[in-house]
Parts: sequence; structure tokens; C-alpha cells
Amino acid sequence: MRIEREVKLDFKDVLIRPKRSTLTSRSEVNLNREFTFPHSKTKWKGIPIVASNMDGVGTLGMAKALSKQRIMTALHKFHTDDDYQKINKDFAFVTFGIREPDEARLRSLVKKKQTPKFICIDVANGYTQRFVDFVKLARNLAPDSVIMAGNVVTGEMTEQLILSGADIVKVGIGPGSVCITRTVTGVGYPQLSAVIECADAAHGLGGLVCSDGGCVTSGDVAKAFGAGADFVMLGSMMAGHTESDMPIIEKDGKKFIEFYGSSSSYAMDKHSGGKANYRASEGKVTHMPYKGDVASTVEEILGGVRSTCTYVGARRLKDLSKCTTFLRVTQQVNTSLNAYEA
Ligand code: 5GP
Repeated sequence: MRIEREVKLDFKDVLIRPKRSTLTSRSEVNLNREFTFPHSKTKWKGIPIVASNMDGVGTLGMAKALSKQRIMTALHKFHTDDDYQKINKDFAFVTFGIREPDEARLRSLVKKKQTPKFICIDVANGYTQRFVDFVKLARNLAPDSVIMAGNVVTGEMTEQLILSGADIVKVGIGPGSVCITRTVTGVGYPQLSAVIECADAAHGLGGLVCSDGGCVTSGDVAKAFGAGADFVMLGSMMAGHTESDMPIIEKDGKKFIEFYGSSSSYAMDKHSGGKANYRASEGKVTHMPYKGDVASTVEEILGGVRSTCTYVGARRLKDLSKCTTFLRVTQQVNTSLNAYEA
């Protein structure tokens, strides 16, 4: 056993210091980014926010609405190949796991010449050899596709994934709003530090990172970009909308939409005929207040990030990280560690 003593930070542990700026209005800020992905060599331009591949978030309705604003959606795993044909493919990831049916599906899409332009390989624990092998296999089968793979939280695994063929590494273990991994397993990594460390590792190899989970406000989204995230994935902030493609539940005169973790017993009952005995549920089920159409939420998020950029003098989202100085605003009390020191 060993203890790492360096303080690791979450979004709530920091604020962004304002800086002198020549910008006069938020409207001068450009939130579009242009990337050439390192393996696929594909070019893409858009606002680098991604709706998460969760039920009620990574839906067709969401993909249709967000693509109009040049924002991406990672479709959840339960869409059919035909569903994918109905949306703008420049702004949608098709999600795969790493099991045999996932491999069979990818092989069949490649054979039908319907290889997705954007592939998301998504597992809760990105530290297994099987996952690395799947990323290599996907890169071989789909050399021209943009591959995003995760989740991991450390530099060495980020490097491993990029060297194995991922263009974008998805970063985050345990920060999700409906995630209980930290409680159930004790495993996790404060999200801001994970993004800073993984972005540093990825950028050194010409790769990119997507911060996944833990954003509850537009300020958190700005902090993720400030920390070096190239993309930011959002679950709860995008849930609870008309585009969730789920029934609206009325309770005591108020409207709600279900929102639950992809590894909750509820999701496993719904999609996989129940939770296997050897697994523990690592997700919660909630009722999210209905928020109307996603367009107004997106406006709020983008308005917030534009405002952050004006506070620090970043004319383009690309410059936000360079212009960011974080102030630590919480003290971590580590008296509990003393017991181990004795
Ligand atoms: P949020 O933006 O809601 O804080 O986080 C969304 C992210 O939480 C998702 O993109 C995914 O990575 C993660 N997530 C979703 N469902 C679950 C779950 O059931 N368990 C865990 N551990 N993480 C989840």
C-alpha cells in the first residue's frame, strides 16, 4: 500500500481568476473549435460539447436538436444502425462496449460500408487489457473514424489509449451525478486534476481529451475547458428535456423526467434483463425536473462559457486554457491520513 499525498482537485475546489482583457462583449467570443484528429486525420469544426451516451441524454431527439448548434451527441448503446442513418453524422458518436456483440456490430457496419464517422468506445473501467485491445481492433477496422475511448483518469493510461489508436480519451471515474462508483468501490479521482493530468499526457502525443462527468453548472464546463479539456461531456445538464425522448411524469402538479445511471440496477433491468449476480449497481435513479426544450439550456451553458472567456481575455475557446489561472478555494483536511502515518 502507498499513499499519494499531492492534493487532487475537483471543480468545486477552484475558481478562475479574472484577468485584464480587451474584449468588450461576450458576442466577440468564438466557441467553435477546429480539430484535425491525430489518427483518423479527419477535420471537424463545432462547439466541443458532447451529450452523454446515457438513456434520456444520448437520444435521436437530442442529436437532431444539438447538431443544429454544431454540438455533438454520443448516442446511447440501444439505438439501431437504422437510427444512425436518420441524423447528422458529423455531430453524432455511435457508442460501443467491448463485448463480442459490439465487435460483431462494428464488423458488420464496416462490411456494409456504414462505418460510423465518430465511434465512442465506452466502459466504466478503462484499465483492462481487453479494452486496450478493443481500441486497437477498432482502429484497424475503422482507420478513418474518429475514435473516442474511455474512461480513465491518469496520464499513463491516456498515453496508452492514444498509442493504441484513440483520437480522444474520455476522462472521468466517479464524478457523474448519478454515479455511485466512489461509494460502492472506493475508486475515483477528483475530476479537475484528472483532466489537467490526462490533457497534459494526451496533448504531448497530439491526442485530445474529453472531460466526462461532474459538471453541474456552466462554470464547471468552463473550468473543464480551462483545465485543458478539448471536449466536455454532459449527462445531467442535458437530461430532463423534451429531447430526452422519455415520458413526462406528473407528480403533485410538477413535471419530471427519469434520469438514471447506465450501471444502475434499473438500467440493467431495462436493457440487459437484470443485473448479473456478480455485479453491484454503480448508478442511481432520479426524477429530474422537466426543463423544456434543450435549446434554452444550451443557450445558458454557452452564455456562461462565453462570459468566462471575457473575464480572462480569451477571444476563442481554444485560448481559455492558456488564459486560466485557478485559485484553490477549499482546504483539504487530511487529518484522517495521520492514522496511517503513525
Ligand atoms: P454527469 O454529467 O451527469 O455528472 O455525468 C455523466 C457521466 O456519468 C456519463 O457520461 C458517464 O460517464 C457517467 N455515468 C453514467 N451512468 C453511470 C453509472 O451508472 N455509473 C457510473 N459509475 N457512471 C455513470
